[in-house]
Amino acid sequence: MIRFTPILLAVLYAFVMYRFSVWRTRRELDAHSTELADPRLKAMTDRLAAALDLPRIRVNIYEIDPVNGLAAPDGRIFITRGFYRKFQQGEVTDGELASVIAHELGHVALGHSRRRMIDFSGQNALRTALAMILSRFLPGIGIWIANALTSLLAARLSRGDEYEADEYAAALLTKAGIGTEAQKSLFRKLEALTQARSGAAPAWLMSHPKTDERIAAIEKLESRWALKG
Ligand SMILES: [Zn+2]
Repeated sequence: MIRFTPILLAVLYAFVMYRFSVWRTRRELDAHSTELADPRLKAMTDRLAAALDLPRIRVNIYEIDPVNGLAAPDGRIFITRGFYRKFQQGEVTDGELASVIAHELGHVALGHSRRRMIDFSGQNALRTALAMILSRFLPGIGIWIANALTSLLAARLSRGDEYEADEYAAALLTKAGIGTEAQKSLFRKLEALTQARSGAAPAWLMSHPKTDERIAAIEKLESRWALKG
C-alpha cells in the first residue's frame, strides 16, 4: 500500500486540479464573453450547422486581443475579439473565420478540449508520479527524465489533436460547400502576420504545428477525397 500511495496521491491531485481548472476557465469565459452577433458570420455558421444537422451553432466572442480561437471544456466555441476585429477590418474573410470555427468544433467533437484540460492539470501529476518512481531507480536524474518524458508526451498529444481537428474541419467545410481553400489561405495569412511582426505570433498559430505541414496534410486529404469521388 505504502508503495502505491505516491501514485494515488498524484491521481487525486490531478483530479482536483482538473475540476479546479474547468471551474476557473468557465468563470473567466463567462465573465469576459458575449454571443457573437454578426449576420455575415451567421450565414457561415448556419451552413456549418446544416451540414451537421444542427439547428444552429453558437459562437462567442472572448474579450481579449490576441488572435485566437478556442474550444472550452464544456464544448462552447470562442473567437477572440482580436480575431473578430481582423474580420471587421477585412484582413480575414468570413470563410476563413468559418474554418477556425470548424477547427474548434473538431476539438469539441473529438473530445480534445476536455482532454486538453486534463493535459494541463494532469501533466503536473504525471510529472510528479514519474519523478517519484524514476528517482527510486535513478537518483538525481530521475526527475530530469520524468520532465523530458512528460513534455514529449504532451507535445505529441497536442500535435496529433491539431491534425485531427484540421481534418474534421476540412471535411465539414467541404460538406458545407465552403471548401478548404479558406482554411489554407488563413494559415498563410497568419504566418505572414507572424513574420511581419516577429515576436508577436498569433497565439492560435503558436500552439499549432507548422503551417506548411498543415497545408500539405489538407491537400493530401483533398486528393484522397477526389479519388474516391
Ligand atoms: Zn487547434
